[in-house]
Amino acid sequence: MTDTNNDEIIERNFDERTEEDKEAFLTQTWCNACQAADLGMVEPKEYELNGVIIVEGKCKKCGEVSLTEVADESTDGEWEDER
Ligand SMILES: [Zn+2]
Repeated sequence: MTDTNNDEIIERNFDERTEEDKEAFLTQTWCNACQAADLGMVEPKEYELNGVIIVEGKCKKCGEVSLTEVADESTDGEWEDER
C-alpha cells in the first residue's frame, strides 16, 4: 500500500514578521544536534505544513537544520520562554 500522506507545504514570508518576532525566532532556538538551546540560527525561512507554521533555519553553531513550530499566530508571545 502506498501511503498517500498529503503533505501540503505553503510558503510563507518570514520577512513579513516584525523585527521583534524575527529576533526571537533567530535567537530562541533548540538544536537537536548540539542538544542545546538558544544557540541562534541563520538563513530562516517560513512555511506552513499541514496547518502548522514552521520556521526553519540553520544552527549557528553546527549548521544543522533547526525547526521551530509556531503554535498559533493569534496567541501572541505564547511560545516564548516562561520566566
Ligand atoms: Zn547545532
